[in-house]
Amino acid sequence: MNANELEQLRKRIDRINLDILELLNERAEVAQNIGWKKEELGMKAFDPIRENESLALIIENHRGPFEVSTIKFLFKEIFKASLNLQNNHQKKEMLVSRKMQPQNTIVDINGEMIGDGSQRFIMGPCAVESYDQVKSVALAMKKQGLTLLRGGAFKPRTSPYDFQGLGERGLQILRKVGDEVGMSVISEIVSSNDVEMALPYVDVIQIGARNMQNFELLKTVGKVDKPVLLKRGLSATIEEFINAAEYIMANGNNQIILCERGIRTYEKATRNTLDISAVPILKKETHLPVIVDVTHSTGRKDLLLPTAKAALAIGADAVMAEVHPDPAVALSDSAQQMNIAEFNEFIEELKVLQKKLALV
Ligand code: PEP
Ligand code: MN
Repeated sequence: MNANELEQLRKRIDRINLDILELLNERAEVAQNIGWKKEELGMKAFDPIRENESLALIIENHRGPFEVSTIKFLFKEIFKASLNLQNNHQKKEMLVSRKMQPQNTIVDINGEMIGDGSQRFIMGPCAVESYDQVKSVALAMKKQGLTLLRGGAFKPRTSPYDFQGLGERGLQILRKVGDEVGMSVISEIVSSNDVEMALPYVDVIQIGARNMQNFELLKTVGKVDKPVLLKRGLSATIEEFINAAEYIMANGNNQIILCERGIRTYEKATRNTLDISAVPILKKETHLPVIVDVTHSTGRKDLLLPTAKAALAIGADAVMAEVHPDPAVALSDSAQQMNIAEFNEFIEELKVLQKKLALV
């Protein structure tokens, strides 16, 4: 064979490659059309019987020189690629995803915006214990210019013998203090049965870590006209966390704040492991505001300030931490709640950091 003949054969191969390419894309378009038709008819994209029939027809007409197994392999790859095309189309984007809504969701809590670029503080006792206890924390917060008061009335405790919270009475205390001091209140609701009852008392419903996959509760709070603060589950992946938020949004409520509160790992130095990188990941994947709870993630008073600084530096929309007038006698989370003096120091240090961050 001379050089000229080789050149001719190469040209033929190139032409055949382009013909195959043309045919593959034509086939893909037809497959896409079939996919859309199937979707209209409510049929699944993958139909193994039809695929076997197509393969049998191909083998019947096959005349070599490729082995039958090679032809089968090549066509199965083509079928797989077409199926992926159809599935990608059938796969619905989640409502919470950044792809569905490129702009940030801003949650309005009585005029205090979460997710508008400014960084807020959500503070208050772990549990509502008494009017005086909540009032003294609220007054200290007010002095620092804070308006988002948290406090648990329904406490999901590991032991059934531990303080379970004051229930509706606790919500009444929170509301009273909130109204007197001019603050919005955030409290956890643990049962679908209590959501309706809680609505007049709270400005934000908190769904705690232990209930992140309580799908009935998520559906219930998805149907109310009240912002929801959704905490990440104890061992939830980011994907599971995002799906939990989707449950709320799919039921009509788009006022959702995501809260990273640490996950359970093998590490024992902290109560949970604060997954700080979840903040930028959640912000990239979803359009929802993301906050960080430094109390329940670390479980350590000495780590509240450094982790809060990390949260602000990484772009969290708010920091949550617990404050009690006398943590030593607190009925829950006694070891990691700040007293009022520690709270003042904490906030002042963070305000300095906020100023520095604003300058750069
Ligand atoms: C809380 O914030 O009061 C609480 C119980 O937190 P978590 O659900 O994150 O444990
Ligand atoms: Mn607590």
